[in-house]
Amino acid sequence: MMEKEMLLSIKDIKKWFPVDDKLIGKPTSFVKAVDGVSFDVHKGEVLGLVGESGCGKTTISRSILGLTEPTSGSILFEGKELMGMKKRELRKMRSELQIVFQDPYSSLSPRMRIADTISEPMEIQKKGNRRTRRQRVEELLEIVGLEKSFADRYPHEFSGGQRQRIGIARVLAADPKFMICDEPVSALDVSVRSQILNLLLELKQGFGLTMLFISHDLSVVEYICDRIIVMYLGKVMEIAKRDDLYRNPSHPYTQALLSAIPIPDPTLKKERILLEGDTPSPVDPPAGCRFCTRCAKAQEICRTTAPELKEIEDGHTVACHLA
Ligand code: SF4
Repeated sequence: MMEKEMLLSIKDIKKWFPVDDKLIGKPTSFVKAVDGVSFDVHKGEVLGLVGESGCGKTTISRSILGLTEPTSGSILFEGKELMGMKKRELRKMRSELQIVFQDPYSSLSPRMRIADTISEPMEIQKKGNRRTRRQRVEELLEIVGLEKSFADRYPHEFSGGQRQRIGIARVLAADPKFMICDEPVSALDVSVRSQILNLLLELKQGFGLTMLFISHDLSVVEYICDRIIVMYLGKVMEIAKRDDLYRNPSHPYTQALLSAIPIPDPTLKKERILLEGDTPSPVDPPAGCRFCTRCAKAQEICRTTAPELKEIEDGHTVACHLA
């Protein structure tokens, strides 16, 4: 079997935010937002990163983009280490790593015409001249399903779905090799979500884009992702190809998340697994398995020993003593 080409490789990254003691002004504890996460992203794939709010998925995306410095670990992009990279070099790399934000309302400057918003990355990279950049803006508007005449209008004249398309056109203008989509449809009406997902799917197929697709919603990632990582409280619980994950979810947390997805057919019944209690504080996470305080299958060992990620079938790894 041919080895898949790797674009991004994350090894054991940790991001601990210090919590200061108000009296002595020194950190006495840490918020362990990401606590030893490793995964690879292959060229041309859409990798889903899923979990409840606070599981560490946004901290991972910020670390990849150089917006926050991880406490330790390694982030290799095309074989180059991003951790500790000089600012100038990092700025150059940044055009290759782009992000589509969750909120299409705040991610576009209200005072800039659409043409200026989309052509800005090309100006920063000193690509072409005014005329060729304008041509490219019009092309990109058409690629994302908008009229080229929209170039001379302002963001307030557009709906949420249209603004998200404009945001995607701006990302494409940078000609990225890797795109992070951070909850790109969660702020949109249900009616336009599938349109934006279809657009991203077309871009993946048409441009061979590699994406990290962040979401709290397993029904959304099923639609677009090739592989999926499930995270909980700063750690990876399960990694699998999409079909394997939905056919054979093996971590109790993944099983609970999947049980919450409604089935469109009212004649079919599905038993919902209700998670008891709240997610523990990332300042003082459980000593053994991170999920043990909410897991209906927890055993004695789960409270004392953290399970390692182990492979249960080709490309399907699970961190659970019972898997
Ligand atoms: Fe549940 Fe134990 Fe598995 Fe953790 S290791 S998910 S607590 S059964």
